[in-house]
Amino acid sequence: MSRSCNFIDGQWTASEGDATLNVYEPATGRVIGTIADSTAADVDRAVRAAREAFDQGAWGKTSALDRSRLLLRLGTLILRDVERLAQIEARDTGKPASVARADIVALARYFEFYGAAADKLHGETIPYLDGYFVTVTHEPHGVTGHILPWNYPAQMFGRTLAPALAVGNATVLKPAEDACATALALVDLLEEAGFPRGAVNIVTGRGAVAGAALAAHPGVDFVSFTGSPEVGQIIQKLCADHFITCTLELGGKSPQIVFADADLDAAIPVIVKAIIQNSGQTCSAGSRILIERSAYDEVIGRLRQAFGKVRVGAPEMDLDCGPIITAKQQARVQGFIDRAIADGVPVLAQGVIAEEAPADGFYVRPTLFGPTPRDNLIAREEVFGPVLVALPFDDEADAVALANGTDYGLVAAVWTRDGARQMRLAKRVRTGQMFVNCYGAGAGIELPFGGSGKSGHGREKGFAALHDFSKTKTTVFNHG
Ligand code: NAD
Repeated sequence: MSRSCNFIDGQWTASEGDATLNVYEPATGRVIGTIADSTAADVDRAVRAAREAFDQGAWGKTSALDRSRLLLRLGTLILRDVERLAQIEARDTGKPASVARADIVALARYFEFYGAAADKLHGETIPYLDGYFVTVTHEPHGVTGHILPWNYPAQMFGRTLAPALAVGNATVLKPAEDACATALALVDLLEEAGFPRGAVNIVTGRGAVAGAALAAHPGVDFVSFTGSPEVGQIIQKLCADHFITCTLELGGKSPQIVFADADLDAAIPVIVKAIIQNSGQTCSAGSRILIERSAYDEVIGRLRQAFGKVRVGAPEMDLDCGPIITAKQQARVQGFIDRAIADGVPVLAQGVIAEEAPADGFYVRPTLFGPTPRDNLIAREEVFGPVLVALPFDDEADAVALANGTDYGLVAAVWTRDGARQMRLAKRVRTGQMFVNCYGAGAGIELPFGGSGKSGHGREKGFAALHDFSKTKTTVFNHG
């Protein structure tokens, strides 16, 4: 299913070391292919190809209109092949079939959005001294490095590459070693769309080898990273060593704050979906529910019912949740659950693994805990699995303190009918995205997205990404 080669300078290229890594199918635990276990030399080759494409090749000479057309064409081709790509994505990640399909549609949407935006990144003029004319323009960084996670491999391909290409950067992408298949399958479509060689280069392999080599490479001008906070710190240090910046999209422990006056009929299905979506392997998963104490029993009663109905299975069964991506992540998620139980945190409800799910797949039962002690690990740390912790709060000030009481700050929601309270919380909760009476984990390509603290920095999606993937140049003309 996967190709054990890199895609460099428009060619499928064997890794210099010839080593490979196994690819596992999360739903069955079986090996289904291999990918290249690339070396620093492979990364160097890819960066040189990107540099040449940017400095001397056809890619560096494209106009904004050319790039717009290329991106839009790629979006159209992805939509044409949506079923084929969705099957590849589902098999590689374990996502339920309809979820994988939605992810491929979102991937296409990234190329549509940034294709339409490519020729709209306007500059400005600034009134200055008499006899001078000043322009401010936005230029590509040059070569951008993209290090991807395994949780949304298809969407991430679009989210990070589409704005970088729209601005005119030449790119080197290192997909996660645990989910590369869709990125490699997209090469044929990049070629069919007509992207010049060297505009997109893909190098597979392990993070500590190929990923680190990419972030450290002196020929890379900017890095976009999505993954764990621990690796984000490593990336930032590697970038600092050669004076470049990066965006870091890391984890979250995103709160859903429910007041007693909330419309629970609307809220409960959204709150459940926000944590079970992609089996909780979503940086913006709504993994904490903070409930006003007077409504605690009613909210928990409804949540228990909903959580008990959640079903887990293989992609083709198309249930609520698929497996966890790898045996290692499955053990990590289960470890969080077991430890919380050992600590005495009450389990309120658990979803069900369908009997027909293959025995050796990496499945975990979605779990609802509560009331969860505020200082318990499971209330503070990102599990990156289908685990929701419930915590009661006393009043608005307590809710804000609790919402802001982790090291993360990515996404938050408040559910209340009180308009003034909506405004106060929208202002006081420390988060990159705030939802009021709704929740959009991963939704909204138009909406700037990113966090602070342990959730990272920089913004992706929306027009904000075009600014992050470009640098501002001020030019002063003396015509006096
Ligand atoms: P990770 O951070 O180790 O991997 C993410 C990417 O970084 C992969 O492409 C990997 O190859 C690369 N990488 C790893 N080590 C590197 C290094 N030293 N230098 C450069 N690149 C490196 O994430 P993981 O191990 O796959 O998952 C662990 C945890 O990370 C998860 O449990 C979850 O908490 C978090 N995570 C978050 C997101 C997100 O969207 N925010 C995505 C995936 C994982």
